[in-house]
Amino acid sequence: MAEEVKCACGRANVGIFACSGSSNVGQIANKIAIELTKQKVGKMMCTVGIGGRINGLLKSAEGTERLIAIDGCPLNCTQETLKLAGFSPDRHIVISEFGIKKNKELELKAEELEEVMKKIKKLLQGT
Ligand code: SF4
Repeated sequence: MAEEVKCACGRANVGIFACSGSSNVGQIANKIAIELTKQKVGKMMCTVGIGGRINGLLKSAEGTERLIAIDGCPLNCTQETLKLAGFSPDRHIVISEFGIKKNKELELKAEELEEVMKKIKKLLQGT
């Protein structure tokens, strides 16, 4: 988790939104957003604030140059929330597409998290 990753977005002001859903994959999405923020790929922002149309949070999202949406599963709550508020994510990541089956387990497995993080880093570097 400590390894630095450079996103292809370069120095762009990147907003990272995660679903933080009540499932293993939702919580992985949340944790990945935190890790990408720590690694300075972008800055995690409040998805639920976008859903609630909170003015300051909408303005912060408008101030970004690129948006990354991270969803746990194909219901795509983050992407849909952003779209309903008029934003188009530049990257959309779905955790369950990395071979993790959605379940109700909220305790994250370190090895699973590490594996997903590796794949996402590769994905972001490859564009
Ligand atoms: S995308 Fe899936 S995991 Fe995330 S909040 Fe929606 S239903 Fe839950």
